[in-house]
Amino acid sequence: LHKFMHWGGSILTDSGGFQVYSLPKFRKIKEEGVTFQSHHDGSKHLFTPENVIQFESEIGSDIWTMLDVCIHAKNPSKHEAREALNITKRWAERAAKAYQQTVPEQHITQNEDGSFTVGNSLLFGIIQGAIFPDLRKEAALHMASLPTHGYCIGGLSLGETLEQMNESVLAVTDNLPEGKPRYFMGLGTPVEILNSIERGVDMFDCVWPTRVARNGMVMTSTGRVNIKNAEYRTQDIPLDAECDCYTCRRYSRAYLCHLFRSAELTSHRLLSIHNIRFLIRLAERAREAIKNGTFMQLKEEVIRKYQGN
Ligand SMILES: [Zn+2]
Repeated sequence: LHKFMHWGGSILTDSGGFQVYSLPKFRKIKEEGVTFQSHHDGSKHLFTPENVIQFESEIGSDIWTMLDVCIHAKNPSKHEAREALNITKRWAERAAKAYQQTVPEQHITQNEDGSFTVGNSLLFGIIQGAIFPDLRKEAALHMASLPTHGYCIGGLSLGETLEQMNESVLAVTDNLPEGKPRYFMGLGTPVEILNSIERGVDMFDCVWPTRVARNGMVMTSTGRVNIKNAEYRTQDIPLDAECDCYTCRRYSRAYLCHLFRSAELTSHRLLSIHNIRFLIRLAERAREAIKNGTFMQLKEEVIRKYQGN
């Protein structure tokens, strides 16, 4: 993958559990794994906990995730969530075993405190349990008992209320070891990110910053800007004077507005670069604020500027 994409940084790969979830018409979950039909060409595929690890090994990603069963988070039944969690737990045990067999033995060492160190690709377990704190806690404790290097919080930001999300996240983070990263899958607005950092989450990913960029929306240090608005046609200033991104160091709001209104796809790319850099800077600021004891001030400031985005 690194060579294919000409990318020297880290690559995290999803297991396919969420992608299969998003095609519920074409999936069938059995103990062995999940069969689904490709929405591209109709071909049938089987994902198992073992072959997903094998695929991740073959494509050479740096952080491998385990196959899981994801369910919707808007009023799920407890029975459905329990069934999904049970199978996710059994698959996690199989994935952990497959990882041990895939990565050479000498790369994994167990430390005195029970944690594991490897010199190779890392394994992250995915924690499910829908919106039920007791199931989330059970899932976290189970995953903490397996030899993984980090934890994904899956199956949230899928239609649940903010209160349900917060309770579910806390039920997970309160029951995980402190020294390993926790990653909230699929969360990406500034307020949501800080809200989860406050509850002990370390990593995020989301389509949101690039999706809104393609609609002309960018976040700046003074709040949101919609670059297609007429007021920007003549503004010979950067998108965000405080930003050090490729776009802000080279182009004016007027030029970006021109590109966007001319339906030039370059604008999608340039605005995406800015939005991603904005979120990375937000995470940098959050780390500093935690060290300085000013995290809650940062959160209040961001809520004032971006709530509703
Ligand atoms: Zn920028």
